[in-house]
Amino acid sequence: MSILRLILGDQLNREHTWYQDDKNCLYVLMEIRQETDYVRHHIQKIVCFFAAMRSFADELLKAHKSVLYIKIDDPNNTQSLYENLLKVIEARKIQKFEYLRPDEYRLDNQLNDFCTHLKIASQVFDTEHFYTSREELGEIFKGKKQFLMETFYRKMRQKHQIMMPNNQPEGGAWNFDKLNRQKYDNKVPVPMPIDFKNDLSYLKEPIEACGADYFGDINWQQVIWPINRTQALQALDFFIKKCLPHFGTYEDALSTQHWSLFHSRLSFALNIKLISPKEVVDKSVAYFYRHPELVSVQQIEGFVRQILGWREYMRGIYWLKMPSYQTLNFFNNQKALPSWFWTGQTKMNCLKQSISASLKNAYAHHIQRLMIMGNFAALAGIDPDEVDTWYLGIYIDALDWVEITNTRGMSQYADGGIVGSKPYVSSANYIDKMSDYCGKCYYKKSEKLGEKACPFNSLYWHFHHRNRAKLNKNPRIGMVYVTWNKTSEADKALILAQADSHLANLENL
Ligand SMILES: Cc1cc2nc3c(=O)[nH]c(=O)nc-3n(C[C@H](O)[C@H](O)[C@H](O)COP(=O)(O)OP(=O)(O)OC[C@H]3O[C@@H](n4cnc5c(N)ncnc54)[C@H](O)[C@@H]3O)c2cc1C
Ligand code: SF4
Repeated sequence: MSILRLILGDQLNREHTWYQDDKNCLYVLMEIRQETDYVRHHIQKIVCFFAAMRSFADELLKAHKSVLYIKIDDPNNTQSLYENLLKVIEARKIQKFEYLRPDEYRLDNQLNDFCTHLKIASQVFDTEHFYTSREELGEIFKGKKQFLMETFYRKMRQKHQIMMPNNQPEGGAWNFDKLNRQKYDNKVPVPMPIDFKNDLSYLKEPIEACGADYFGDINWQQVIWPINRTQALQALDFFIKKCLPHFGTYEDALSTQHWSLFHSRLSFALNIKLISPKEVVDKSVAYFYRHPELVSVQQIEGFVRQILGWREYMRGIYWLKMPSYQTLNFFNNQKALPSWFWTGQTKMNCLKQSISASLKNAYAHHIQRLMIMGNFAALAGIDPDEVDTWYLGIYIDALDWVEITNTRGMSQYADGGIVGSKPYVSSANYIDKMSDYCGKCYYKKSEKLGEKACPFNSLYWHFHHRNRAKLNKNPRIGMVYVTWNKTSEADKALILAQADSHLANLENL
């Protein structure tokens, strides 16, 4: 063998052109502590990554490719990407090293460094996964101070001609948000989410024995997530037929009864590249055109916006702003994350439900991530490093490029407004409007003061009060300060004192 080709755990793209021409190539995949340990992960995340990698390696072997798979419990496994590669290169007398461009900055750096010190030739290839290159967003916004997602999204729709009859947006508008975003009202039944019941118990012993630290629940015999391309395509098909017809309408709804509502649950399969964003968008759009009686334009537009818009946009921001992005802390927040983020044991029902579901499934849908956990963390002034660590560990789909931009950027506003034009924070009013959480809560959603007053209410005002100098001039939040200015000094003092007592007592909320 003269060429060694590295496949990272999130590069399981069987459609890559690499595989069309691989004479004299040895593919290497490895399960390493370097990757299980860079943050404390949910057990389902570790297990599903390993299962998907093993399944991918099997597929390559079945296609008569040469594959070296280094398992976590292999005695020759050094548990380091760098060291394992060096060992293989020497042992197999490799003459050239090839790899696919990593999505994560830390791995990109590591492999750049590796190649710089390598005595043999090396070459890097694109992953052929995204619509955009790493640099494209930077080029679109060259010389601009603002990076509006909406501008980027419209350019993508035009460039890729997605739902653009006569070069105009389908349905006569770019955005149907006003029609969407309803509370779940039981008018249409939520389909039973597709569940692959993968028996992954063969990974229990090696993972438990390897010494990696992890948390969260798992049913080893019935793991729900797609771990190969066939399952990923089934999940996509299920989503299109069962969930897409109501996706937009309920995309912001929150429900105690339904943990993923009409969401696709495709993020893991997408992020490890079992399926591509293009095939997700193309198949969904084709279904919309075939079945306009089932899928209205507001549903499909809402979905396409997530993949072609938000997902590509976040990646572009990541590559434009790293490495400084990962240290941004606009509000200089320093508080520790309350320990109940790791257990769900809080009296606040919205957080209890959303965190418990996250621990059970390694998943929360967007509005839980943004307007429940993220909202609370921002209002409470939690250190964004701690918030990032939690999000990066708990969610099955969490990879730095998409986690950090969403968490530090969109949800914590720690980037000072690169991703979002204003902080996504709210009082209980919004949470009650979009969910069924407040009715069963220990706290009273309409009260600001007193032992049973919902903490979100006073914390909301405290957040705006303490960050006034940084937010005052933001045109999108002017009304908040108008209302606050009208509040009497005596009432302000009571609200701020209530919030202060919550902030001093976060552990016991
Ligand atoms: C604080 C916070 C942290 C997040 N961390 C991650 C993360 O680590 N990994 C991740 O993939 N997504 C992350 N997201 C984005 C989004 O919440 C998830 O992609 C989504 O919940 C995954 O579930 P789904 O596949 O059912 O999504 P759906 O609601 O069905 O959306 C379809 C797809 O659109 C894409 N998408 C939707 N919103 C976003 C977004 N804001 N950014 C990027 N892609 C998007 C995803 O690929 C998703 O699979 C985060 C959002 C927030 C607010
Ligand atoms: S009352 Fe407050 S804490 Fe309770 S569920 Fe509603 S928003 Fe959450």
